Amino acid sequence: MSAEYFGIGMTSARTRERLIRRLRDEGIRDLRVLERIRETPRHLFVDEALASRAYEDTALPIGNGQTISQPYIVARMTEALLEPGSLENVLEVGTGSGYQTAVLAPLVRRVYTTERIKVLLDQARRRFQALNIRNIVTKHSDGGVGLPEYAPYDGIIVTAAPEGIPLALVEQLNPGGCMVLPVGLRDQQVLVRVIRTDDGYEREILERVSFVPLLGGVC
Ligand code: SAM
Repeated sequence: MSAEYFGIGMTSARTRERLIRRLRDEGIRDLRVLERIRETPRHLFVDEALASRAYEDTALPIGNGQTISQPYIVARMTEALLEPGSLENVLEVGTGSGYQTAVLAPLVRRVYTTERIKVLLDQARRRFQALNIRNIVTKHSDGGVGLPEYAPYDGIIVTAAPEGIPLALVEQLNPGGCMVLPVGLRDQQVLVRVIRTDDGYEREILERVSFVPLLGGVC
């Protein structure tokens, strides 16, 4: 990575402020979330060739047929996860570039993040190290079954879409815990917030979205 890649050129305060204004216009209200988007260097989570587009409000390719999520979606999911109450430990399914993880990590005590594609996870690990983010535990595994060894969680965020709400994940939430996830096939997906109750869960549909599918196995 060149000095310019890390330098002020790609990260001009003006470019980031434009993104924050756009997120506000799109309805993001939580100031903690807006601050995290402002402070997280998204250009370090994409290939150098795409760094000049890092502060556009758009998803970008990260290789292996996967994408770094659109900043609006990262902000919206983080806001929806934090809204019901404070969170100590959070499970993220689908590390991808690690951008969502890095946005979330300073807002909670610990993030456990799982990714099925090893090369993506290794890249994300290097980014967390370079940015000195120390409260992230990474795991190369199929997150569709959760991460039972660290459960229960106060929050779960899923960044790839299952066809329905995975019960294995609901069962790894604390009572009152919150999960935010896209659900459904590509053209009919909705973002859903699930709250675990004593006898099951309650679900709230937030908005339409478009995510890559949640797949089984590891590679
Ligand atoms: N939030 C990420 C970011 O900001 O870069 C974007 C994640 S990308 C939209 C979805 C990720 O979920 C991909 O990296 C994909 O490999 C991963 N994924 C899909 N199914 C998975 C599974 N069962 N377990 C773990 N990761 C999975």
